[in-house]
Amino acid sequence: MAEKILLVTGGSRGIGAAICRLAAKAGYAVAVNYRSDKAAADSVVAEVETAGGRAVAIAADVAREADVLRLFAEVDRKLGRLTHLVNNAGITGRGQRVDAVDAATLEAVFDLNILGPFLCAREAVKRLSTLHGGSGGAIVNISSVASSLGSPGEYVWYAASKGAIDSMTIGLAKEVAREGIRVNAVAPGMVMTEIHAASGDPGRVERIRPTIPNGRIGEPEEIAEAVLFLLSDAASYITGSILRVSGGR
Ligand code: NAP
Repeated sequence: MAEKILLVTGGSRGIGAAICRLAAKAGYAVAVNYRSDKAAADSVVAEVETAGGRAVAIAADVAREADVLRLFAEVDRKLGRLTHLVNNAGITGRGQRVDAVDAATLEAVFDLNILGPFLCAREAVKRLSTLHGGSGGAIVNISSVASSLGSPGEYVWYAASKGAIDSMTIGLAKEVAREGIRVNAVAPGMVMTEIHAASGDPGRVERIRPTIPNGRIGEPEEIAEAVLFLLSDAASYITGSILRVSGGR
């Protein structure tokens, strides 16, 4: 069977890094994309290689089209023709009310959380689609339960960006369903990563914990398990689905 080649955007830390590690164990060759933390990306690659897998770290800001084009060209050159994509890189912007947010924050969040996944999906479809000579594959978008909860008083724009990702998942899944490509999303609840401190609200995790039905914060590995399932042939009849992985939230 041909090698499975996976690109994970934002694969150097948090949920993305857990996806890279688990995917390598499942036999994927993995492109670990990152924006600036080279040491973190290199350490994910080293872990994969120590376990006998194949991985490369590729720096690219996926909110920028020129970087996305270079990222995919590097994956082609270093690993081969892509078969799987996880659109994972995302930011929240600093937590505040809508009546206080500035345009720069809105632009930064929409560029990375919406434009980036669309550009990456476009480049992936060109490689996966049987219409373009590919042999099919799968895309998983990382959404958030925020898309249905709305994140009032925190970051409504972030919730809205994930709403866009849910719509893209549904529409793109239908668009490419007859071209051998499945498109699904995983919507995590609260997961222990550095994204919360980056939002300027490190106390958020403890504040939200009591509202989680099963009473605990998720681990990145628990999100990765769901992503690997949706990427795999075990999910062969699943497309256009949005799977909540949120402890019931
Ligand atoms: P994280 O720990 O902050 O890691 C973010 C990753 O994205 C890092 O690898 C970072 O690389 C990369 N990144 C940031 N900006 C980038 C850019 N412009 N281009 C390419 N890569 C970029 O985040 P996380 O918590 O794992 O979140 C991953 C995804 O899950 C996001 O889409 C997030 O919205 C979603 N999510 C998270 C939670 C949660 O509770 N953690 C809940 C629901 C959904 P550098 O270090 O090099 O910048």
